[in-house]
Amino acid sequence: MSIEVREISKAFQAHVALAAVSLKIEQGDFVALLGPSGSGKTTLLRVIAGLEYADAGRVYFTDIDVTNKPVQDRGIGFVFQNYALFRHMTVAKNIAFGMNMLPGKLRPDANAIEKRVAELLELVQLADLGGRYPNQLSGGQRQRVALARALAREPKILLLDEPFGALDAKVRRELRLALRAIHERLGITTIFVTHDQEEAFALADHVAILHNGKIEQFDSPSQIQQLPNSEFVRAFLA
Ligand code: ADP
Ligand code: MG
Repeated sequence: MSIEVREISKAFQAHVALAAVSLKIEQGDFVALLGPSGSGKTTLLRVIAGLEYADAGRVYFTDIDVTNKPVQDRGIGFVFQNYALFRHMTVAKNIAFGMNMLPGKLRPDANAIEKRVAELLELVQLADLGGRYPNQLSGGQRQRVALARALAREPKILLLDEPFGALDAKVRRELRLALRAIHERLGITTIFVTHDQEEAFALADHVAILHNGKIEQFDSPSQIQQLPNSEFVRAFLA
């Protein structure tokens, strides 16, 4: 699905978190929202998800106005920095959770769920670890499980908010490659929030640079690096 954000504004009391932000993301694109802490990245992602409602402006998925749709009806998968897995459930149960929660007529049967979990474990390269519990995994493995869980219900849009922020540099790079490979394979429209420019430029097809609740520049990584369009972008990249 494509995503269009039109003139979205959001304030928290007197503080303007988003100031009439507009952004168009094509079907299958991988976009990074990059900017310093407090620039509005998480708020924008949450408005797109339906976890937060804007004060003004609209959100469209393809041609459908989803502005007033609740999060559970938007067909989105999420991964957050500290995506708490259920500690008392195995990896396989964690991944199956969203499918098991579907109402009767939408829920795949037990065999189909098991097959889907096996596919997802393979996809995130944890094929043999379905029987483990979260505390028996490394941080990087846990985020792979979180990613598999986010993908379980075949979302049309994948949203990630600093998902690798708590991991060390080497594991971050491995997960980056894994995520990019999964994106190549599934082609899901993806938005990835980060304050790490190396990560944004390595992963994304297009990067939106946020500053004070506005998008300063939205371009390919090479375009931004070669032709920063404002003093802020120039200084931020320096
Ligand atoms: P980022 O993810 O880029 O660090 P955020 O979108 O989280 O930025 O926040 C943007 C601004 O909005 C910040 O100044 C932050 O303090 C403020 N903000 C975000 N969420 C809330 C909230 N629930 N209540 C009050 N202020 C908030
Ligand atoms: Mg944030």
